Amino acid sequence: MEEKQTCCICGCEFTGYGNNPFPLSNTGRCCDECNGKVIEVRIGEATGEIKRRDFRELLNEFYDGKTELGLYTSTNENNEQVIVEITNEYLKTSVFQGNGWIRINIYHKDHTTEELYER
Ligand SMILES: [Zn+2]
Repeated sequence: MEEKQTCCICGCEFTGYGNNPFPLSNTGRCCDECNGKVIEVRIGEATGEIKRRDFRELLNEFYDGKTELGLYTSTNENNEQVIVEITNEYLKTSVFQGNGWIRINIYHKDHTTEELYER
């Protein structure tokens, strides 16, 4: 019998080898379903629609009003893989928690932050 693994993105159990979850996570393996999302992001990176950037630089540029709006992939201060969305009002990071929940951190222009969780 094949050994069960836990998906590092959604937390489900799967058998088999699994998939490399980068850039949605940098630990463990992910299930085939989550691999669909991983591939979408990789295609975005390959076409330049999603840019990979240093997180500190992105945040500083956002506070200075210099950053380009759009989607980015990055590694945050806790060494977690994050998807970064930048709008005129806020910078939002999403981290896949490995239990099905996504942790969202919102950085506002006035340097206040919010944290919330989504499924
Ligand atoms: Zn999964």
